[in-house]
Amino acid sequence: MKIPGNDSQPTSNQHLAASSAQDAAPSTSTLPVHDAIPFSRRILETLAITATLTLIVLNVGRLTTADIPVNWFTWFLIPVGMGAADFLSGLIHWGADTWGRESMPLIGRRLLHPFRVHHVNQADFLERRFIDTNGDVAILALPGLVGISLIPLETTLQYNLTTFCVSFLAVGSMTNQIHQWAHMPQPPWLVKQLQNCGILLGSNAHALHHSPPYTENYCITTGWCNRPLASIDFFRRLERGITRVTGYQPRSDEEAYQEKFTNNVNEKPSLTSIHGGS
Ligand SMILES: [Zn+2]
Ligand SMILES: [Zn+2]
Repeated sequence: MKIPGNDSQPTSNQHLAASSAQDAAPSTSTLPVHDAIPFSRRILETLAITATLTLIVLNVGRLTTADIPVNWFTWFLIPVGMGAADFLSGLIHWGADTWGRESMPLIGRRLLHPFRVHHVNQADFLERRFIDTNGDVAILALPGLVGISLIPLETTLQYNLTTFCVSFLAVGSMTNQIHQWAHMPQPPWLVKQLQNCGILLGSNAHALHHSPPYTENYCITTGWCNRPLASIDFFRRLERGITRVTGYQPRSDEEAYQEKFTNNVNEKPSLTSIHGGS
């Protein structure tokens, strides 16, 4: 459920990128871009995406052909699974934006750096190809899909559990793609209809995340959880609790990264100005 992802070659300081499409980016002439992935990684991600799609189709096939009576609760678990995927996307996104550091071993450059690039250079996300966009999330979703494929469909409980997990993992594995669609000026027609219906995250809702103070609407699949979480001040409360326990300040790495690419830092809205954070 990472958002933009991955890398292997540190290139962010070496490229000039067009800034015309930067709605909320700092005023800057030099913007970071995503890191290119090596061929071996591309092969791995292609295999992971293929396996993920195959397992989703196989499990949907199992569910539709199983000889188990289905009631309203089973159907209800489909949107519940989608909502759970949305919540998890928000939690991971918030964690990366708020507490992640590029300097972290193993995940820093690979998983957290893309979040930093995306905030400074939104247009760069649209330059990423399908494999690059979806490969990492597919790798993360794969163990779960293998696991549910092993659940027999002999009881209602097993059937309902599998229904929830398929819904959760199918939507969750598309997190980066749905996020990218939300940035497209003209997404595919069907996607646009699903966005308009509120089934997928829409561009207007996601634009709030890229607007000062950059601390809202972290959820990036369906977007259903954004409003309820904001209404209870969920992430700010969580941040205050973590700061109280650990002493860490939220978004310190994010602020430092943005300042590297801002010509006039005095004009940039403070990421820590809201409720003690972002
Ligand atoms: Zn973000
Ligand atoms: Zn975005």
